[in-house]
Amino acid sequence: MEPVYHAPGTLDEVLALLAIGRGEARILAGGQTLVPLLFRVEDEPHTLIDLRRIVPLRAIDATATQVALGAMVTLQAAELALRTSLPQVAAALRCVGTAPIRARATVGGTAALADPWAELVTCLHALDAELVLVAEGRERRVRAIDFFHGIRRTARQPDELLRQVVLPLPVPGERHAYHEFTVRESGGKARALAFARRRDGRTTLTLAGERLMPLRVDGTISAAQAALRHEDPSARALLLRVAGQALAMLDEETDPCA
Ligand SMILES: Cc1cc2nc3c(=O)[nH]c(=O)nc-3n(C[C@H](O)[C@H](O)[C@H](O)COP(=O)(O)OP(=O)(O)OC[C@H]3O[C@@H](n4cnc5c(N)ncnc54)[C@H](O)[C@@H]3O)c2cc1C
Repeated sequence: MEPVYHAPGTLDEVLALLAIGRGEARILAGGQTLVPLLFRVEDEPHTLIDLRRIVPLRAIDATATQVALGAMVTLQAAELALRTSLPQVAAALRCVGTAPIRARATVGGTAALADPWAELVTCLHALDAELVLVAEGRERRVRAIDFFHGIRRTARQPDELLRQVVLPLPVPGERHAYHEFTVRESGGKARALAFARRRDGRTTLTLAGERLMPLRVDGTISAAQAALRHEDPSARALLLRVAGQALAMLDEETDPCA
């Protein structure tokens, strides 16, 4: 049965619809993943709540210490907004899909989906970003490490809307490097992502892959090897390769998309 479609004009109306939806309502953001799922009848919600009229969700607010991206900010707009303040996050976002996908897919949809190979998800983990969730009468901020529970599983409750992601800006001397590598084969693709961060003299590496949710370890190859010991050998080899690249790039500026 076709879902009942709503395009509310205010955030309060969105939250009211989610509250009465009892888990059977879906939020429609950029539609890049949800629309094909609906078309193939792989998801059959009774209600669709389109966010396109909720203008405040498109806001990008920066202070001296953080930048908050509204859930409906497209990956393209986020990439442009972060070029100066978080250039390696911007570089990671340039690796997403193709330009038409980046022009439609949103920050909120990408984080809510929690695909392990999503560039944004890796960046949020690596930077200790926070996700702001709202429901009728309540709001909470959840650290990325607590938000992403596993492949396509998050801490979001069915009546909650992901309103914003908040990224901390680098402190003086902080350095970042992002590298990813995708191997396309006839049977599918393998992808490995690595984000290296040096802050206050400590280096960390965040690694993710086709079937590996982001994992943060100390910034050495031996720490990465130990953390990846249960991965299958070809995935581990690819992850160690991007880890090495990201660590080497910490002091360079190079193109992260291979
Ligand atoms: C061909 C193709 C290639 C792609 N390649 C990549 C890639 O390389 N890297 C990458 O990261 N992504 C890739 N994507 C995925 C894409 O970039 C988006 O991440 C994804 O489609 C979700 O964003 P969206 O705004 O389209 O969300 P939608 O499809 O509208 O929604 C996705 C899910 O999130 C939920 N949702 C949306 N917004 C919110 C919110 N604010 N609060 C709570 N729940 C919400 C929806 O209910 C739905 O369950 C690709 C997609 C396609 C079609």
